[in-house]
Amino acid sequence: MIETIFNYINGDFVSPRSNEYLDVFEPATGCLYARVPNSNNEDVEDAIEAGRNAFPIWSNLSVKKRSDYLSDIALDLISDQDRFAIWESRDSGKPITLARTLDIPRAIENFTFFIDFIKSFKLDYFITSDESNNHIQRLPLGIVACISPWNLPLYLFTWKIIPALIVGNTVIAKPSEITPYSAFKLAQICKKNNLPPGVLNILNGNGVSVGDPLVSHPKIKAVSFTGGTSTGKKIAQNTAISFKKTSLEMGGKNPAIIFADCDYEEMLNSLVKSSFTNQGQVCLCSSRIIVEKKVYEKFKIDFVKKVSKIIIGDPIKPETQFGAISSKEHFDKINYYVDLIKEEKGSILFGGKILEINQRCKNGWFLEPTIVEGLGPESRINREEIFGPIVTLQPFETEQEAINIANQSDYGLSATIWTGDSVRGGEVSKKINAGVIWINCWMLRDLRTPFGGMKQSGLGREGGLDVLHFFTEQKNICKPV
Ligand code: NAD
Repeated sequence: MIETIFNYINGDFVSPRSNEYLDVFEPATGCLYARVPNSNNEDVEDAIEAGRNAFPIWSNLSVKKRSDYLSDIALDLISDQDRFAIWESRDSGKPITLARTLDIPRAIENFTFFIDFIKSFKLDYFITSDESNNHIQRLPLGIVACISPWNLPLYLFTWKIIPALIVGNTVIAKPSEITPYSAFKLAQICKKNNLPPGVLNILNGNGVSVGDPLVSHPKIKAVSFTGGTSTGKKIAQNTAISFKKTSLEMGGKNPAIIFADCDYEEMLNSLVKSSFTNQGQVCLCSSRIIVEKKVYEKFKIDFVKKVSKIIIGDPIKPETQFGAISSKEHFDKINYYVDLIKEEKGSILFGGKILEINQRCKNGWFLEPTIVEGLGPESRINREEIFGPIVTLQPFETEQEAINIANQSDYGLSATIWTGDSVRGGEVSKKINAGVIWINCWMLRDLRTPFGGMKQSGLGREGGLDVLHFFTEQKNICKPV
C-alpha cells in the first residue's frame, strides 16, 4: 500500500493546495512506498498565516513553558525510537543499526541538549555606566524557515527546529522530499502533545516548488539551511535582497591527514568509519585520505583489507554496516564519478561496482565502497563533492605538503589529523582551512561547540550559543542615569 504523507499546517495534517504529490522510494528495494506533497506558494501562504498567528502566543510563553512542550515531545520520541529507526532506515537506505545508534539518539539529544542549554542562555542583560542604563534584550525573530537534507533526516531536522522554537520563534520546516517520513511522524507526536497550532509547520516538496517561495517570502525572518552548495548559493541570492539572516551549512570534501607516528590501529578503524559511514553520505565523511609516504603502502593494503570486510546488505538486517544509496538520482551521480575515475586515469584499488543484493533488495541502489589512488589534488574526483562511498588516497612527504593538499579545495567543512605528536597536531590544525578539525578522532561532538564550514562549505555556525544567537535579534533599551 502506498502511504500518503501530509503537510502539517496550523496543527492540522493537510493535502497540498495543488493536490500534487511526489513519489517516495525505499532505496534498498527501489520500490515506491509513499507519496509526499509537492507544496507551492499557496501552501507557503497558509503556513505563514499559521506561523504569524501563533507567534505572539508562543513568543510570550516563558522559556520554561516552551521547554516543557518540547520535553513532552522528546519523551514520546524516546519511547518510539525503535520505530523511528525503522522508518529512517527505510526512507534513506541507511543501516538500521546506524539509525538506532546515531540518527535517532542524536535527534533525541537535540531536544534534551537545547532544553538544558537554554537554562544558562541570557535572554537579557544590563550594561550600566555613570551616564546610562542599558537593557539588552535578545528577542525571537518571528517566523523562520528550517530546510534540511536527506542524509541525516530527523537528526538535522531537529538540530534546526529545536533551537529556533525554544527561543520563541515559530517555524516553517521543510524536510527533504527524498526522506520526509520521520518529520511527518514527529509532527504526529507534536499534535498528540498539543503543541499550539502554527508553532511548527512542516511543508513538503521540492526546491523550486516550495523552497524558493518559502525562503523568498517577506514574512520569513531567517533561513537555516543544510544541503548542497549550489542550493545554498541560490538561497543566498533569494534572501540577500531582503537582508534576511541566513545560516548555510553546505558541502564538503574533507581531508584526513595520516602521519606515520599515529596510533595506527585506532586510525585504521576510525578511517573505515569516517570514509564509509552512511555509504559515505555524511557531510563530515573523509573523502580525501592524505597519507605520509613512509606508511602509504602499508596503509593501502590494510585499508583495502578492512574495507573489504564491511558487511554490505539489506539495511533492515542488524548486522548490515553499509546500506543503499539514498536515491536513484544520487546513485546515478555517484556512478558518473566512478566512470570519471577511469577517465581521469585513477586506479580503483577496491570497489567501483554496482552491487546486486538478493531477494527483496534486488532492485535497490547499492554500490561498493570504493578506494582510488593515482589522482592529484587538481583532479575533478578530488575537487568535486561526490557525497558517496568514494575515497581517494594521496601520498605526502612533508608536513607542508600535507597541509597544501588538504587546503587545495574550494570546501572547508571538516578535517581529521592522525598523529602521535600533539604539538604537530596543534600546529597542523591551525593551518588547515576548515571549520571543524578532529585530532585523533572523528565525529566526536560536544553540542555546545560551534559547528560549520569555511569557504564553499558554509556561512555561519550552528550549535551551542551560535545557533541561539542566530535565531534571536538584540535590542538595546537605553535610559540616562
Ligand atoms: P540539496 O541542496 O539538494 O537539498 C537540501 C534541502 O534544500 C532539501 O530539503 C531541498 O528540497 C531543499 N531545496 C532545494 N532547492 C531549494 C531552493 N531553491 N530553495 C530552498 N530549498 C531548496 O541537498 P541534499 O542533496 O538534500 O543533501 C546533500 C548535501 O547536503 C551535500 O552537499 C552535503 O554535503 C550537504 N550536507 C551538509 C551538511 C553540513 O552540515 N554542512 C550536513 C549534511 C549534508
